[in-house]
Order: sequence, then C-alpha cells, then structure tokens
Amino acid sequence: MAFELQKLPYAYDALEPYIDAQTMEIHHDKHHAAYTNNLNAAITGTSVEGQSIENILAKISAQPVAIRNNGGGFYNHNLFWELMTPGGAKSPGGNLLKSINSTFGSYQNFKEAFTKAALTRFGSGWAWLVKQGDSLVISSTPNQDNPLMDLADIKGTPVLAVDVWEHAYYLKYQNRRPDYVDAFFNVVNWDEVAKRFKG
Ligand code: MN
Repeated sequence: MAFELQKLPYAYDALEPYIDAQTMEIHHDKHHAAYTNNLNAAITGTSVEGQSIENILAKISAQPVAIRNNGGGFYNHNLFWELMTPGGAKSPGGNLLKSINSTFGSYQNFKEAFTKAALTRFGSGWAWLVKQGDSLVISSTPNQDNPLMDLADIKGTPVLAVDVWEHAYYLKYQNRRPDYVDAFFNVVNWDEVAKRFKG
C-alpha cells in the first residue's frame, strides 16, 4: 500500500495575503507530490514497505538517505498543511497557552524564540515546537529531518512547525525569511496545535 498525497485542506489562495496561491500550488502539487512519489519508490521492495510513516521515522537511522529525506518530506508537509488555516484564532488558548506561559514566560517570548529558531536555521530546514511528555521545547532541524526521527537532537511530538526551505516563501518574500515567518503567525491553526498538544 503506497503513501498517498494528502489533499490540501483549503484552496490554494486560502492563506492569502500571507502565503500566496502560486507558492501553495507549487509547494503542494510539485514539492510535496515529489516527496510522496520518491518515498514510495524508495521503500518499494524494502523491509519498511507497508509500515506507517511514524514507524519508519522512529528507526530512520537504519534507512538510506532517500527514505530519510523523502519520508521526512512526506510527513512534514502533511503536518504543515494541517497546521495552517484561514481565519483561525490569533493566538493559543487553554492548556496550550498555560504550558507556553510556564515554559517561555509569555506567548510573546515563545513567538520570539520560535522565530529565532526559524531564522537561524542555516539553509533548508524546519523550526518546531515539540512536546516531550508534559513539556514543550523549541528546536530546528536541517533538510526534511523532524523530531520523530531517532537521530534528531531533540525528539518528541511535533505540535507546531514552519517550513523554512526557500520553496516555501521565495516567490513572494524572496530572501526575506523574517517577513515570511512573521506572516506565518497570521495563519497558524491554533486549534490543531492544541489538539496535537493534548495528544
Ligand atoms: Mn516544503
């Protein structure tokens, strides 16, 4: 059973003006589709064919780089689309906010720390808010690595993620990654983040 490209949960232009329609279309239909197809090609005939993506990522250090890169790309983009929405809450609430406040001092401090992780990731990669037990921690990973991988420096359950590959922002923001990350905060799906935090 091959992995399937998940449909975008909204229209290409739904996140305008923060994320433009052309970027969304290319990002999903070309980049995410390629990770999905290349993952399927890489696992065909191997011992991990038929396993869940979570199981594959949990033991990724035993796999060739094609499965690491494309398995990460497949999982990370599935997650990323779900973590954004048009017209969502402007900030987190409930137990998620309580945990953010107790960990980082305030939502504003969290936002600054997450943004710093996104801006200081050299080259292509991701910034993460990761749940470890009842705790929260911010991290970043190179390429398509993620916190579910056994080889990640900071392991846990990803609850928020931002893609800082240039393909995620270059058409609209060119080299201005700070403007893109700032815009991203306008389309975060805090209900989905809270759901993943609750586990
Ligand atoms: Mn991407």
